[in-house]
Amino acid sequence: MLYLSRYACFFNRSPTIACYHSLRMMPVYIPETLFPLIKNFESGNCVEVQISLVDSDKKEELLKIIEALKEARILIKDPAEDEKAIDYFKNLLGKPYPHLAYFILTDECNFRCKYCFVKNQNPSGKMTMDIAMKGLDFFCKLIQEDSKQFDLEKTIVFYGGEPLVNWTVLNALLDKIRLLIENGKLPKKTTLNMVTNGSLLTYEIAKKLKNHNVQVSISIDGDDSATNTNRVYANGMPVYQDIKRGFQICKDAGMNIGASCTLSEASISDFDKTMHVLLDECEITNLGFNLIITGDGKTNKEYNERAAKFIIDAFKIFRKKGVYEDRIMRKANAFVNRTVWPFDCGATGGNQIVVAPDGDIGVCHGFTPQKKYFPTNVYDNNFDIKTDATFAEWSMRSPINMPECQNCPALGICGGGCPFQAEIEEGSIWALDKRFCVHAKMTLEWLIWDLLDQMQTT
Ligand code: SF4
Ligand code: SF4
Repeated sequence: MLYLSRYACFFNRSPTIACYHSLRMMPVYIPETLFPLIKNFESGNCVEVQISLVDSDKKEELLKIIEALKEARILIKDPAEDEKAIDYFKNLLGKPYPHLAYFILTDECNFRCKYCFVKNQNPSGKMTMDIAMKGLDFFCKLIQEDSKQFDLEKTIVFYGGEPLVNWTVLNALLDKIRLLIENGKLPKKTTLNMVTNGSLLTYEIAKKLKNHNVQVSISIDGDDSATNTNRVYANGMPVYQDIKRGFQICKDAGMNIGASCTLSEASISDFDKTMHVLLDECEITNLGFNLIITGDGKTNKEYNERAAKFIIDAFKIFRKKGVYEDRIMRKANAFVNRTVWPFDCGATGGNQIVVAPDGDIGVCHGFTPQKKYFPTNVYDNNFDIKTDATFAEWSMRSPINMPECQNCPALGICGGGCPFQAEIEEGSIWALDKRFCVHAKMTLEWLIWDLLDQMQTT
């Protein structure tokens, strides 16, 4: 007797059906003519009975398909196997430990981007030198508490507001971090990132950033029209030329150039222009696309589908040119390696701390202005991330643990999007990030058919 797993899902591209287990992630492609026989296993059925239903010239093919479906756990001997599979992944959740630290160096910014979720609410100004150093000590202390995880890669992100508004502190942090790495207080594999609007970059700053291997991501949304539509200086003047100058400075300094591209309506409306700016003008080597935070309802109805399609189409070009697009690569890696991707952001999993300018410490940088989910501060020497209720809750926030995700084909590759978006849109971090669901499901379907196409051309 064999049963169809409850994690089995099917995609149709006539004359082929892709059979797929959302946790095992190993597609099996079958002719649609044989698909009804596979559906017959839904409530349990005998292989011999199904084989007896096909013409003799098809029996061997069906037998091979059944074997492949068994290997992919799409057909299982016992429905209890499904329970065991999901329990295995659930047991991996709930172990908060920070691999990532955000330093919100200031909540001030010289830009007033229309979709910014910081928007200078409750400004607390620039982080002081004392708080920055205590924040680093806090991070070092937390990561040293688990010697097994200490040597795994750690990431420190310099963020704002605009982080370069507080260059003095950032400059000092870079020196201190180098010292901490040399002294074994931070692992050798500590990666430094900065997300900046690029307008305050100078050759001197770029030299220092390069010297300290800081991966800089400059925010740009496309050409001058797409970028200036949503990003302006505090006095309302356009910003595009100064952003481009920032890219040029990084290029002249010999740095890898990254971009953070928020997909506004204006950027997705002209695919070719946006791609030309990113690839040919800015010469980026890596990129992260951001979906617009939609709480203010400023996007068109079909935005989610169009943005998801934009990311897939862009990825097809990026992979030929060796450009790394983070958002889709995370899913592609999960799919190719058949490794469940439980969390799509550092906050989920309880794997991130955020140091606010005033020294408060939380889990998600999106909530910095309202200081929600900020249970402690840099002066708290007794903070225990393993027992803290906020980090415990976020460490469980994964599709693996969310009832609405259990029947979703994208369960294994998704990671659950952005809980901050879910909360501002739906009222809870446990709700779905619906923009992201569209992206995850469309990406999965594309990955499944792309794999078949690649198999057929080799
Ligand atoms: S929940 Fe959203 S805003 Fe917060 S850290 Fe994750 S991706 Fe960023
Ligand atoms: S968050 Fe959305 S796409 Fe991801 S598994 Fe849940 S329902 Fe599917």
